[in-house]
Amino acid sequence: MVNPDPLVLAEYRLRQSQLGIERQKLKRLKLTPAATIDGTPVDLYANIELPQDTAEVLDAGAGGVGLFRTEFLFLNRKDLPGEEEQFEAYRQVAQAMQGRPVVLRTLDVGADKGLTDGDGSGSEYHTKPNPAMGLRAIRFCLAEPQMFLTQLRAILRASHYGKVRILLPMVAHVHEIDQTLALIGQAKQQLDERDQPYDRAIEIGGMIEIPAAALALPIFMRKLNFLSIGTNDLIQYTLAIDRTDDAVAHLYDPLHPAVLSLVAGTIQTATRGGMPVAVCGEMAGDLQLTRLLLGLGLRNFSMHPSQLLAIKERILCTNLAEVQTLAQRVLRASDPVKTRELLAKLNS
Ligand code: PEP
Ligand code: MG
Repeated sequence: MVNPDPLVLAEYRLRQSQLGIERQKLKRLKLTPAATIDGTPVDLYANIELPQDTAEVLDAGAGGVGLFRTEFLFLNRKDLPGEEEQFEAYRQVAQAMQGRPVVLRTLDVGADKGLTDGDGSGSEYHTKPNPAMGLRAIRFCLAEPQMFLTQLRAILRASHYGKVRILLPMVAHVHEIDQTLALIGQAKQQLDERDQPYDRAIEIGGMIEIPAAALALPIFMRKLNFLSIGTNDLIQYTLAIDRTDDAVAHLYDPLHPAVLSLVAGTIQTATRGGMPVAVCGEMAGDLQLTRLLLGLGLRNFSMHPSQLLAIKERILCTNLAEVQTLAQRVLRASDPVKTRELLAKLNS
């Protein structure tokens, strides 16, 4: 039987009630617009995996869904979801968000998110020795055009019920965008033939999560309406760290100068080019990094809904001019100890 010491028990009860008070305090910020002290507005969006997650998103007062990881409809089942099933799921999210933007990411399977074959076994695509570098995300979709078209039609149909945007994962080549745009055109034509309505001006964005895309950003910007930085994969591919391998987890570092330089460069190039840019990887929901990202120019964060109000609280007490200066110093720092010192200063 568990029988904790009364002192330990009292300590945990105190911590629990403090956490409860903190949560209540944060809840009061739900309707407060997110802005830095000088009034610069910041968009706070939420990441979701299932349609029912929208309840938590609305509860956190999010401005929209910045990343709907649609692959969760496809995993742990023997068959693929058809157009109607997908349409219902996407429409449900679009309607629940009541006109707020909903960024639907097209299927990102492969690597750690493997589909199963009809017989329940792993698909041949996912048994390669190096799946993170293999037929994943947009590459997989372009290799399975009928499956991709089905998803694109379902997304387009849902766009009639809200402010839906399409986000393409793991783009590395411009021809991947060209091919996808052609398929979107084909999906639109199929819906026209069926007389089914959709948003004709639907916006298409790309995820910046492969260093090649960050380094050659202008060529991608010409083809897209918005960008979203997937820092989870960007770190993985920049540092050659398999996200799923515990043996190298200690080398996974969002503050590595190469990672920060790619994130900062993407935000700057996009902003200068007048293109909306968000961060939707874990970095966006990390309180330790909020001010650094603000200082680097980020104005759109998308994160797990449970982190949103704490991030908002941090933004509300941020002096933008101060963090801009410190963020530039972080970018120039050549020593990890100095980087951590500057980060502590940013967060003090
Ligand atoms: C990312 O890579 O940062 C991202 C948001 O996508 P996922 O974690 O689903 O790969
Ligand atoms: Mg990713």
